[in-house]
Amino acid sequence: MKLNRLRLTGFKSFVEPTELVIESGLTGVVGPNGCGKSNLLEALRWVMGESSYKSMRASGMDDVIFSGTSGRPARNMAEVVLAIDNAGRTAPAAYNDEDVIEVSRRIEREMGSAYRINGSDARARDVQTFFADASTGAHSPALVQQGQIGRIISAKPTQRRQILEEAAGISGLHARRHEAELR
Ligand code: ATP
Ligand code: MG
Repeated sequence: MKLNRLRLTGFKSFVEPTELVIESGLTGVVGPNGCGKSNLLEALRWVMGESSYKSMRASGMDDVIFSGTSGRPARNMAEVVLAIDNAGRTAPAAYNDEDVIEVSRRIEREMGSAYRINGSDARARDVQTFFADASTGAHSPALVQQGQIGRIISAKPTQRRQILEEAAGISGLHARRHEAELR
């Protein structure tokens, strides 16, 4: 799955609409401490369905909304849109007619968040399963958080198995089996 573009509005320190174009090959994000590099990676995980605010370094999900600075008032809404290149038709079957798939997540203060896939309302679970199938996703080992290498080294065997299953691309099967069992 190739990520094309990440667009952030009101997300953490990215108060003005900001677009990151992800070209083929390696993309590096560099900048001084506190400039928002980790926030970008968090935006990526968030739009993929991250449900734990703690792993977003927040004390509630509303904390991902721009909280204001001395010169700028806080916002009441944050939105992240991720455009995915699907020219290779690797997306899950339900979405596989489009060349580009746009997944968005929007949160309003005290209202929770809403997802869309290609403009249609989607559940958090739909978005999570979409990315789990593609072995990307909010908890994908492809997204390495600051300090995570150390945590992987000291992980318990069951946690390490989870990491290997994600890497092998079979965690989507577990997610769908779990959903089937709930029905
Ligand atoms: P380092 O190099 O130290 O890892 P970094 O580039 O990864 O830094 P981030 O941790 O992404 O930096 O960004 C931290 C900045 O984001 C801080 O200045 C913090 O105040 C700001 N920030 C985080 N959440 C919000 C929010 N809700 N509203 C406004 N600013 C926020
Ligand atoms: Mg950082």
